[in-house]
This record gives sequence, structure tokens and C-alpha cells, in this order.
Amino acid sequence: MGCRFVTVQAMALTDGFLAELRQYAPSIATDAPALERFSQDYYWYSPWLREQLATKRAEAIVTVTTEAEISAVLRLAYREQVAVTARGLGTGNYGQAVPLAGGIVLDLRAMNQILSWPRGGVLAEPGVKLATLEQLARDRDRELRMFPSTIAMASLGGFIAGGSCGIGSINHGVLRDRGNVRSLRVITATETPQVVTLRGADIDKALHAYGTNGIITAIDLPLTQRTDWQPLTAAFNDLEQAHRCAWALGRSEGIHKRMLTLLEQPLVGYQKPVIEHLAPQAHALLLLVDPTDLSEATTLIEEYQGQVISTTAPNLSEATWNHTTLWVLKADRDYTYLQCGFSPDPEQSWQQMTALKARFGDDWLIHNEWVRFMGAVQCWSLPVLRYRDHDYLEAMFAACGELGVGISNPHTYILEEGGHDAGNPVQLAFKQFADPRGILNPGKMKRFVPR
Ligand code: FAD
Repeated sequence: MGCRFVTVQAMALTDGFLAELRQYAPSIATDAPALERFSQDYYWYSPWLREQLATKRAEAIVTVTTEAEISAVLRLAYREQVAVTARGLGTGNYGQAVPLAGGIVLDLRAMNQILSWPRGGVLAEPGVKLATLEQLARDRDRELRMFPSTIAMASLGGFIAGGSCGIGSINHGVLRDRGNVRSLRVITATETPQVVTLRGADIDKALHAYGTNGIITAIDLPLTQRTDWQPLTAAFNDLEQAHRCAWALGRSEGIHKRMLTLLEQPLVGYQKPVIEHLAPQAHALLLLVDPTDLSEATTLIEEYQGQVISTTAPNLSEATWNHTTLWVLKADRDYTYLQCGFSPDPEQSWQQMTALKARFGDDWLIHNEWVRFMGAVQCWSLPVLRYRDHDYLEAMFAACGELGVGISNPHTYILEEGGHDAGNPVQLAFKQFADPRGILNPGKMKRFVPR
């Protein structure tokens, strides 16, 4: 299950190439601090990726602001066979934006315009921050259908190309669910770069492809009706009761919510940004709930011997999804994590979790998120794990396999090994068309062989 390292040939950029590049791009940085900063993301969540990616560096950071600039850069890079790795805000946690073969990092932060607000949605450039989008949508009585817990830092393009789901997914499913993205404009890395618009099933070609088969320049995203969500935290002395309560809340369609998270007690104390809204000695449920349904949610929590602790926690989502792990890692680098899918049956999911706890004890700390997947609310998990050594983590993978627990492996930068759309053949076919020389984020799509 471990990450397979792909050898990628790095080529030094010539002065002539950089001089030509300067004609097309408004800003190019080649100083060591910039190269270091823009060659990294949050891959350090994984001890395996830390070993493999720490020394990878781009040779130039190229800022672009228009499709014309991107096309010109890609034309030149194609001609000289220089690697180009797109980058939003660099918050991916599998090394998606780390340039394995040097070359150019294409900094898309400045390409951040909202183009229009069509049909209850938004058409925007990739560099726009998700938090900006959410705020502007709310001003129009709309809101994002889903966002990662990095909403304050991450870009729309990075979420589309490198993320998968998050807060809101309990209602709207995951990004790749049909309808959650309406179109993508993508520029190819061909001799003469083309602008291609992907719609319907074709969106799958470039969604969550780590920028390996085109540079996304515009995204048409549907929004949903704004709700002024109420944060709610609850404490439970009994983990099983907390888990069963979360399932009951998850399956209660009448209790409208945007987020539903379970944290096993030792994880609670690490959640610094919201600690005063939690009971650190107890297991916790964290919710964003429709104010209309607050009393029903409270009643249900009390039925499972839970106690509401706070209904005022600001930024509660920053203790969920991969942020839960972040606060633990900030305190203790000997932890890491996994991404698991438990049985859709509440009883069975509990049995799977207790089997893992029986085997690994407090080296396996439960963190669950409830998500609508394939039309039904399901329990996904981002357990925080004590990292002892390579074999121990492998043993955790194996135990999941034996118990029928699915894994999306976060310890690999290889697209096909990550679990999400793993081995999606349409992405490979699109890469053969859109990036025949394999200059886009090389080394991330392992089945691709350059022509
Ligand atoms: P980047 O890291 O810059 O890029 C991500 C990938 O997209 C890279 O492969 C890059 O090459 C590619 N890319 C970027 N822009 C383009 C473009 N215009 N065209 C083509 N390719 C492009 N993810 C989730 O899905 N849900 C979560 O809840 C979540 N929580 C997180 C919490 C923490 C603390 C951390 C560290 C990460 C989390 N992530 C989560 C992962 C990540 O933050 C999100 O996926 C985020 O949306 C990535 O955006 P970014 O702008 O930082 O992308």
C-alpha cells in the first residue's frame, strides 16, 4: 500500500528560456526562498511523503493573470519540454502541488476574478479564495455547496483540481457528483495550446486530476440557498453513544445541517481554536445546524446522553476534516492520519471501529465525518494515528483491508494510488490529448507514458 516513487527527469532551465519567459509573464521569481516556499504544500502530514518530497524544488515561479499568458507559457514549455506545475494556495496535503521534476511552478493566485453570477451559481477564475467566494455568495443570499476546512486559505482552482469534499458534503455530496461543477475551462499543453470547455460527464476529465492534464482557467460552480448556520458542540462520556447519536443526526433528514463531526476524547484537547467551546475530557460532536432545527438537534443529543456545550463557537469548521489532524500535528509530529470509508450500516461501522481500537488502542484515534455519498449519508473517517514506523502504518492499512474498511491513501502523491477516482481512464485519455509530452505536473499520473 506504500507510495511508489516515480523517477522524473529534471532539466535545468537555461537563461535563454527564462529571458523568453519574461516576455510573456508579468512576474518570475528564481530566488531560493521563493523556490522553497512555492515548491511545498502540506505533504508533511505524511511521514512517507516527508521522506520523498522535502528536497523537490521548482526552478522558476511564474505568476500569470490571463489565459493569454498561460497559453504563451505553455507553448514555450511544450517547445522546450519544461515541467509546469499549477499552484493555487498550496494547501493540498498529498504533495499534489510539489514539482517533482523542477521546471516552472505556475502561480495562479492573481488570476482571481469573479466573471459572472449565472443561473444561481458563479463563474470564477481559479485563483479566487474560497472564503471570498463564500462571502460574495452570501451577500447574494447564496452559499457554497461544499468547501474544505481550509476555506480561509485555499483557492477555488486548487479545490477543484486537488480537493474532494468537506463542509456541506453532508447535504450535497462530493465535488465529483454530477451537477456540483457545471463547467471547466481548461488550457492544453500542446504545441498550440487550446482552450477547451468541459461540461457534463466530461468534467471528470480534469476534476481532481492534480493539474496533470490541463490548466483550469474558469469554473462554473452552482451555489445553494444561504442558511445562517448555527454552530453546536456537544459532549459525550460514552464514545458508542456519541457515534450512534451522530448516525441518528446524520440520518435525520428533518434536521438540516452543514457539518457533522465526531472526535474521540483525546483529540478534543488539541483543537486550540475552539477549545473554550468544547469539554476536553469528553468525546465531542461538532455541528453546523439550521437554527430552525436547533432544538430538535438538542433533544436528539440528550436522548443519547449527550450535553450541548456551546452554540456560539466561531469558525467551528476549523476543528474538522484535515484541520483536526493539523492541530494534533502542531503539538506532536509523531502522529499522522488515514482516510477511511466505514460500512454504510451504523451497527457494522461501529464494529469495524471497535475492532481497530481493540487492535491499536490509542494509537488509533477516531475522527469521523458524515457525508452524503452515492445518495446516502455515510460515515467517513480521518483517524489520527500514532506513527511508530513504516511497518506499523502498513499494518494499519492491512487491518482496514481485513475488516472491509475502504481507504483513500493520503500517503502518496500518485493520482491512481490515492483512492479518489483512482485510475480514472478518462483522465489518462484526456492527458494523452491535452499534454502529449507529459510536461504538466509530471510524475503524478503513473500510467501515463509520454509520446
Ligand atoms: P493547491 O494545493 O495549490 O493545488 C492542489 C492541486 O491542484 C495541485 O495538484 C495543483 O497542481 C492543482 N491546481 C491548482 N490550481 C490549478 C489550476 N488552476 N488548474 C489545474 N490544476 C490546478 N481538502 C478537501 O477536499 N476537503 C477538506 O476538508 C480539506 N481540509 C484540509 C485541511 C487542511 C488543514 C489541509 C492542510 C488541507 C485540507 N484539504 C482539504 C486539502 C486542500 O486544502 C484543499 O483541497 C484545497 O482546496 C486546495 O486548494 P489550494 O488552492 O491550496 O490548492
